[in-house]
Amino acid sequence: MSAKKANLSGELKKYFGFSTFKGQQEQIIDNLLNGKDIFVLMPTGGGKSLCYQLPALISEGTAIVVSPLIALMKNQVDAVNGLSSDDGVAHVLNSSLNKTQTKQVFDDIKSGKTKLLYVAPESLIKDDYLDFLKEVKISFFAIDEAHCISEWGHDFRPEYRNLKQIIDKIANVPVIALTATATPKVQDDIQKTLGMTNALVFKESFNRPNLYYEVCPKINVDKEIVKFINQHKGKSGIVYCLSRRKVEEFAQLLQVNGINALPYHAGLDQKVRVANQDKFLMEEVDVIVATIAFGMGIDKPDVRFVIHYDFPKSLESYYQETGRAGRDGGEGHCLAFYDPKDIEKLEKFLAQKPVSEREIGLQLLNEVVGYAETSMSRRQYILYYFGESFDPVNGDGAKMCDNSSNPPKLKDATADLKKALELISDTGEKFKSKDLISVIVGKENAVTKSYKLEQSSHFGFGKDEKDNYWKTILRQATVQNFLQKDIETYGVLKITEKGKSVLNGKSKDIFLIAEDREFDLTQAKAESDQVQQQAGGGLDQNLFNLLKELRKKVAKKHGIPP
Ligand code: ADP
Ligand code: MG
Repeated sequence: MSAKKANLSGELKKYFGFSTFKGQQEQIIDNLLNGKDIFVLMPTGGGKSLCYQLPALISEGTAIVVSPLIALMKNQVDAVNGLSSDDGVAHVLNSSLNKTQTKQVFDDIKSGKTKLLYVAPESLIKDDYLDFLKEVKISFFAIDEAHCISEWGHDFRPEYRNLKQIIDKIANVPVIALTATATPKVQDDIQKTLGMTNALVFKESFNRPNLYYEVCPKINVDKEIVKFINQHKGKSGIVYCLSRRKVEEFAQLLQVNGINALPYHAGLDQKVRVANQDKFLMEEVDVIVATIAFGMGIDKPDVRFVIHYDFPKSLESYYQETGRAGRDGGEGHCLAFYDPKDIEKLEKFLAQKPVSEREIGLQLLNEVVGYAETSMSRRQYILYYFGESFDPVNGDGAKMCDNSSNPPKLKDATADLKKALELISDTGEKFKSKDLISVIVGKENAVTKSYKLEQSSHFGFGKDEKDNYWKTILRQATVQNFLQKDIETYGVLKITEKGKSVLNGKSKDIFLIAEDREFDLTQAKAESDQVQQQAGGGLDQNLFNLLKELRKKVAKKHGIPP
């Protein structure tokens, strides 16, 4: 064993020029070479590729690497081919190859020259590829970006669903699946779909201790962002907006206010898009205002802030987007503006979607709202979402969020928690939060009717408080581990051991939630608008409006959309 380890370091040096392994790379590689199925959860930039590239290079036969994007494959193939003195140890197999090229790849695999074969899942199904691959020596399968298998991931690809069947047809060899998406639901999906529930799991922490997390009520958002950017003059940052129109408008508003900013979204001309991105990377421009189309594969180490003008649709995407800040380990400020009305809009939008997409979308939104409204450490909340526990007092980066550096006033809600737990226990732990809240506040719905919950003595016990209050109670109880969400159904609330001891009165735990958190911004917004008008704004809104009118006129004159 130890001889082999020494050997691995030697191979690492020889092929990659690195003198030490990062994180758990060595154990991962060692176990893969010993025939184990492996599941790797590691944040972006953690060094996942090496976990299959190195073993592929030193194994007999060809490793098949499944990857979702042709562009990503090309980069990787070029990188791997640059490592070895023998040329062409990595190849791509897909429909873009002509007959001669395909034959060349086949020949190289047969002769044992090809160590890594990159394929998209949809290529792997093709009969002539399948028939060929069955006949040659395969060392192992690597499934990169494995979250694409799950509808709960942020990048679901239906073609990933059938991978297991295809793999079984080709060869009986180890499988290594890798992803930077670590929610327990996605993890569970991946392992089940790939038939690797017995795999060895290697998980690294997703904590980013140098990022500061903050949520602000979305009042005077334009002005607040301009103020924030001016306080960070000359630093690099990204502002995410939901719509393309907002992106363009807000980039202009920033420009008019003297901030060096450019827009980025998928609707822009390809040339403009690339140029804007390059200017950001080359530091010719400080701020990129963008839709979520921006950022994939962008590696700018010194992004100092990521602002969400509109709240994200899932905590997963929030983590990925904010993760672009502070790559160099320096300051990274993550600021998101929250208005429950925005969430309602997203919910309405989801209502038009097919059932499963809608259900998933709503659950993800629910988590986002939980994050926005929480009074606990935001880092703890995010890491909890990734199935990781975090000590909000002594953990790495513990003070790095608004709630931790400036704690809200808390109140003891243990008595209300106990009542909710009694309801959950008496109704057999089979309902989701939404239906439990209906019972608590005494509102009928399809579920309460079909289970005749109106007849329960619990019905309406909490009607003196708003729905939102009870939502907070159930959400916070989940995050603080009095309750847990069933992973299979993703939502049915079960009582944990900690919760049970509250129920039977044996617990000394106190359940704390924030006091007086008002998330309905209607009143506050109206007041601030009034003050704004009286004070004349303070932003160069007038110039901005003038420009907007001018653009409309020009567009009309030329018959193009503004
Ligand atoms: P991931 O796929 O997890 O996002 P990558 O595989 O792209 O990450 O690796 C991220 C970076 O880390 C790459 O630049 C890679 O060269 C570097 N890297 C990987 N392993 C090591 C190592 N053992 N020592 C130093 N750098 C490493
Ligand atoms: Mg990767």
